[in-house]
Amino acid sequence: MSFQHIPGIGLVHLNEAKAPKVVPGNERHKWAGKPRWGESTTCIKCGCVKRRKKPEYTETYQMRDGVETTERPACTGKSE
Ligand SMILES: [Zn+2]
Repeated sequence: MSFQHIPGIGLVHLNEAKAPKVVPGNERHKWAGKPRWGESTTCIKCGCVKRRKKPEYTETYQMRDGVETTERPACTGKSE
């Protein structure tokens, strides 16, 4: 068993740590550009807007006619 000490939280069992999410290719957005902090870009497949916000340093996504969220939505555009 392996544990990791996280300051302020304590020992956390590594199996409980979130595994990286694997996104299927057709659900991946194709961003028009690589935005830096304070910039935004748009998915050329579905029109979703990704914003990298300063000074909070958070990334948000907004689907067309959707709400702004920090969860990356699946791309609804057609895959190539
Ligand atoms: Zn997309």
